Amino acid sequence: MTIEAVKEPAGFQAREQRRHSMRTREQYIEGLRKMRKNLYYNGSRIDRDDELQQPALNVMGVTFDAVRDPELKDLCTATSHLTGQTINRFCHIHQNPDDLHKKQNMTRALCRKVGFCIQRCMGIDAVNAVNAVSFEADRSNGGNTEYHKNFLKWLEYFQTGDLVGACAQTDVKGERLKRPIQQTDPDMYLHVVEKKSDGIVVRGCKLHISEASIADEIMVIPTRALGPDEKEYAVAFAIPADHEGVKQVLSIHNFRGRKYYKKGFVGGYTDSYLIFDNVFVPWERVFLCGENDHGGVCALLFALFHRHSYSGCKPAIGDVLTGMASLAARHNGIRKTSHVREMLSEFIKITELGYAAGYTASALGKPEVYIPGMGSVPYGPGSCIPNSIYANVGRCLTGEAVFKEQEMLCSIAGGLPATFPNEGDLTDPELKPLLEKYLMRNPDVPIEDQIKFWMLYIDYSCSGFAGPMNYGNYHGGGSPIMEQIAITSQYNIKLRENIVNSIAGIEELKAGTLTSL
Ligand SMILES: Cc1cc2nc3c(=O)[nH]c(=O)nc-3n(C[C@H](O)[C@H](O)[C@H](O)COP(=O)(O)OP(=O)(O)OC[C@H]3O[C@@H](n4cnc5c(N)ncnc54)[C@H](O)[C@@H]3O)c2cc1C
Repeated sequence: MTIEAVKEPAGFQAREQRRHSMRTREQYIEGLRKMRKNLYYNGSRIDRDDELQQPALNVMGVTFDAVRDPELKDLCTATSHLTGQTINRFCHIHQNPDDLHKKQNMTRALCRKVGFCIQRCMGIDAVNAVNAVSFEADRSNGGNTEYHKNFLKWLEYFQTGDLVGACAQTDVKGERLKRPIQQTDPDMYLHVVEKKSDGIVVRGCKLHISEASIADEIMVIPTRALGPDEKEYAVAFAIPADHEGVKQVLSIHNFRGRKYYKKGFVGGYTDSYLIFDNVFVPWERVFLCGENDHGGVCALLFALFHRHSYSGCKPAIGDVLTGMASLAARHNGIRKTSHVREMLSEFIKITELGYAAGYTASALGKPEVYIPGMGSVPYGPGSCIPNSIYANVGRCLTGEAVFKEQEMLCSIAGGLPATFPNEGDLTDPELKPLLEKYLMRNPDVPIEDQIKFWMLYIDYSCSGFAGPMNYGNYHGGGSPIMEQIAITSQYNIKLRENIVNSIAGIEELKAGTLTSL
């Protein structure tokens, strides 16, 4: 099919019909089965419900189960400000600080359940960013554009369909020190190559896009601040994940398979290179096109919402790692030693300071955004945006700690995870009694439980899964260097200088200094 001939995204009409609000995991997976086969993995095209994708679907399924779970449903549902319907919180626009608290707590609770990332936060974070940006872009354009109207129509479809959204922000970026417009190849950042009466055509590639292979919709937004000569890069839109012209090249991160020593929860993850090969997007699905200032704010706002989400997921991963460190120390018989106590207190500090920063970011949430050169200004239609300093310091702290945490796990375990026997040997009739005898470290714990524990420990610290996990925990939502830039450019350091100068007798204390944050 040619680009010109594409009038409607594949599967869009069919899914448009689905108006029920909260789906079951089975309905969600059934929807994925109907999608166009545009997933490429290691030399072949795979279905969305391919065996390799099952662990990732198992994780996402938890977000659908949670709305019917008596313990979780209050946290995981919200009332749509558009329709008044009860919807899955992952589709909600935060109306007040309480919504932000609930998003953070929902994220921590669900990540605890699956033992790692819950995967659905990219969608909610992008949707909240674009809600504010599309509104402000229309305002700046004096009502000559209809981005926000388009967005709200799409949002209603997204909420009533209970759809899963991925966010494609990160561009391949080519030559790192050059701006989009300076790149040797202009496609290193996704951009508009043609504007037509019924839509736009875009080209480029977004990478590391989490759970795009199991998402219904993909929200595309800019990566960075853009100059007036980079208007074609200031574009935001939503398309179905199987849209004509979009190719997804997957990496799949599944845990090592087990036949005998079964796990309590089997999860997995996927990330995609999303190649946009001259993709047509109808105007109804375009939420920003050419407003470079708002493009930069959009990049910043998604990052902010996403760093706030990390104040839910990283503490949950901290919960898992703290539990692992403590159990490893018990199994090794070193639980009461002073160096283990020191390491446990380090895990707890990272975990709970990350949570506390997110909690404060929620409590101080307002319909305001920090714009370089302007400071904090009202922004968007009144929806709630987390405090930027606290969201950034929390994410930076937990991001920087990722490899420190791994170092502590390595230290407590000793060399065992690196050479642990394979399941086939552990269950071999000849070897089993011998291996169980020599793996025994704590006579108070059944050997089968010790084996299961170390297998999980290996998954999280010494495996093909642990590598991508650590990279994601470090770089996802923006590398710590990006948070350092946000913190130092937004924090009121002048106020602190004034405090020092007043104590030194150099200048008067300025009004409001004692009570400002
Ligand atoms: C597992 C995983 C999942 C992810 N999921 C998503 C997702 O769902 N959606 C999404 O949009 N993104 C996602 N990301 C992308 C993530 O946001 C980026 O990895 C992060 O922003 C860093 O960008 P980069 O990988 O291009 O690294 P780079 O920006 O290339 O960084 C590499 C190094 O170069 C330095 N550098 C880069 N540019 C400059 C410069 N101009 N000046 C000086 N130094 C520079 C950096 O500081 C760093 O040291 C994911 C990443 C991972 C690893």
